[in-house]
Amino acid sequence: MAVPKRKQSKSRKNKRRNAHPLTPPQMVKCSHCGSLKLPHHLCPQCGYYANRQIVEVKK
Ligand SMILES: [Zn+2]
Repeated sequence: MAVPKRKQSKSRKNKRRNAHPLTPPQMVKCSHCGSLKLPHHLCPQCGYYANRQIVEVKK
């Protein structure tokens, strides 16, 4: 198996991880069905936003 010849420097490691987000996206509970969804987004489970059904969700 091919193995790296040298240890990757902290600088290079940190540069790679620079693009990684620190925290996962915040999730809120849907007011209609209670499932987790992104804030200010249509609920993917029930198609509701602001307590109104916006789109039909195919089962
Ligand atoms: Zn919902």
